[in-house]
Amino acid sequence: MKILKASLFYLPFIWLFLACEYIPGKTNLSAAKEKIQINEDILPVSLEDGTESATDEIDVENDEKGISEPKLINEDLFFYRDSLGRKTWRKKIVDSLRKEYDKLPKYIYFTFDDGPLPGSRIVDSIARFKNIKISAFLVGRHAAMSKKLMNYYQDYKDNPLVECYNHSYSHALNKFKQFYKQPETAYEDFVKNHEDLALDYKITRLPGRNTWAFEDVRIIDVPNSAATADLLFENDFKTFGWDWEWKIDQETGIADQSVEELFQKIKNLMDSKDSLYPNNVVLLTHDNMFVTERGKRQLEKLIDRIQAETDYQFEHMSNYPIRY
Ligand SMILES: [Zn+2]
Repeated sequence: MKILKASLFYLPFIWLFLACEYIPGKTNLSAAKEKIQINEDILPVSLEDGTESATDEIDVENDEKGISEPKLINEDLFFYRDSLGRKTWRKKIVDSLRKEYDKLPKYIYFTFDDGPLPGSRIVDSIARFKNIKISAFLVGRHAAMSKKLMNYYQDYKDNPLVECYNHSYSHALNKFKQFYKQPETAYEDFVKNHEDLALDYKITRLPGRNTWAFEDVRIIDVPNSAATADLLFENDFKTFGWDWEWKIDQETGIADQSVEELFQKIKNLMDSKDSLYPNNVVLLTHDNMFVTERGKRQLEKLIDRIQAETDYQFEHMSNYPIRY
């Protein structure tokens, strides 16, 4: 279909604009809308024609009666705005975009937090053995605790499949509320980690918070982390959260979701386009959850399941989000 092919680059912006209700927290959606407006001359005619106006409020229920299906004219798909209700129009466009996204490559980001810890050795060897890219959000304080842990960190650094990012030096000593009350001190903690571990990327994940701050995205899950995220952003750090978390008990190796349940969840996020960016799913888990044989086996099984049954590509967070 020519109409959507023409604007592949703009798909994420259009998606953000149309599906904005599902994004939690505060995002800079006006920026995304601006981008659409600036580039509207290249948008498909059917999208331009469908632009909402204040005087265009239509009773959807009544309007449903007069809907005409989109028509194919000279291989272009035309939506007749005049006869479509606002919500129906939006749904049809979103459905069309979803179909277009389904044809494109999909990216899965395996992110491991809190290393180096004893489980990091397992994660490092699985990345090599399965030949998948993984992202490690690291805590400098752990590396400084022992020679063994420092060696695990070095193994990560030496592994071309692993990219090392910043999860703060102290991990807030697990007192998150206190930590984020002092944003300057918290920011300095990230800077220390960046320097001590000699990290190559200015990419962070806040301890204890699913907060995003990069480009025109700003999503704050707990308000007290906002000032720290903003300080990092102002100093060119990107802060990434996650779309889904997988938890495994590090003593027993028992997971909160079986491999099959987790696989279906990931697939569902990809198919429904309900991740923050469509076709990009960020999975959070923790190094030490794979320290038991049982935990390790589940991680291997999950990777096998993804590699055997999907065309997903494993990616590093430095490439997030891939917008084609
Ligand atoms: Zn953590």
